[in-house]
Amino acid sequence: MADKRDYYEVMGVPKNASDDEIKKAFRKLAKKYHPDLNPGDKEAEAKFKEVNEAYEVLSDKSKRSRYDQFGHAGVDPSYNAGAQGGSPFTRGMNMDVEDIFNSFFGGFGGFGGSSSRRNPNAPRKGSNITTTVTISFEEAAKGCKKTVTYTNESVCNECNGSGAAKGSSPKVCPNCSGTGQVRVNTRTPFGNISTTRTCDTCGGKGRVVDTPCSSCKGSGRKRTKRTVDVNIPAGINGEILQVSGHGNAGVNNGPYGDLHVKVEVRPHPIFERRGDDVWCEIPITFSQAALGADIVVPTLDGKVSYTLHEGTQPNDIFKLKGRGIQHLGSKSRGDQYVKVILEVPKRLTTKQKELIRQFDSSVDDKSYGKRKDFIDRIKDLFK
Ligand SMILES: [Zn+2]
Ligand SMILES: [Zn+2]
Repeated sequence: MADKRDYYEVMGVPKNASDDEIKKAFRKLAKKYHPDLNPGDKEAEAKFKEVNEAYEVLSDKSKRSRYDQFGHAGVDPSYNAGAQGGSPFTRGMNMDVEDIFNSFFGGFGGFGGSSSRRNPNAPRKGSNITTTVTISFEEAAKGCKKTVTYTNESVCNECNGSGAAKGSSPKVCPNCSGTGQVRVNTRTPFGNISTTRTCDTCGGKGRVVDTPCSSCKGSGRKRTKRTVDVNIPAGINGEILQVSGHGNAGVNNGPYGDLHVKVEVRPHPIFERRGDDVWCEIPITFSQAALGADIVVPTLDGKVSYTLHEGTQPNDIFKLKGRGIQHLGSKSRGDQYVKVILEVPKRLTTKQKELIRQFDSSVDDKSYGKRKDFIDRIKDLFK
């Protein structure tokens, strides 16, 4: 975390890349490092996570602009703390960034809240975490349950978040008397100017720890790997599910933030989703098209038999009602559309070719309506 790579570098795009370029780069990299395609490869897994994280920021307009202005600290409140073990000094750095946000945007809700400036001991909700889960086309169509693995900042179980070693407890900060702020007087040619800034001794917390907890080194927090079972509803397509209370730990016993699970759907080798409908293409032979035939059609419910009528044309589309995807949040289902692709036979033997010639000479214009019509038009055109 200390040497976090630049998100643009991770995605391999220039700083002025368009949303489309970023999306394209993400697709390429996500495919390359996908855990399903690199089973057991820890490096690929780490890269996959890095790419997802970079994409999460760069694909979001407001996050991207914060990242462009402030770097990693602009999008990840725990960045500095994590990088240097959460010393009071680095927490002070965070407060400074927050101050910048406050002056620029008039307060920034998701960043710990500006209430800390008034009362450093007030409980604050933890920040949210975003993670990605990838499911199959079928799982997206029918809904599924997934165990999602993620890492959050939890309250340290050794010191219950106080940061103080067993048998001791945090004290009121002597430098700021527990307010978390100190007043600084500066002499200028215009007179004395008094400003407040975050207390260096306690980093704005209002309390200090003499003997830090050995488990969390005094931060009161620990990065912890966790899992949660998430019910993914049928019909999902790139939506983000919110799992309340599974984000990062709050400050001063504040509630945990939320976990946002971005659900990505793997493409299917045969099916393509269009809204709630499923589309697929099925190749058929010339004789099946000419004579009609019973064909097997793959659907989300398994194989279904379908009768092609005599004289089926290339690219004809037929519909299987109700065989599509369940509409998100309702019981109704879309339809399946099947496009017929006529495959012309290749590498024929002399005998087979002769049979086709014989067949062809036996057929007259009545069987080729479109062709006859076309020839008639040409005649008119060149008269
Ligand atoms: Zn202090
Ligand atoms: Zn601890």
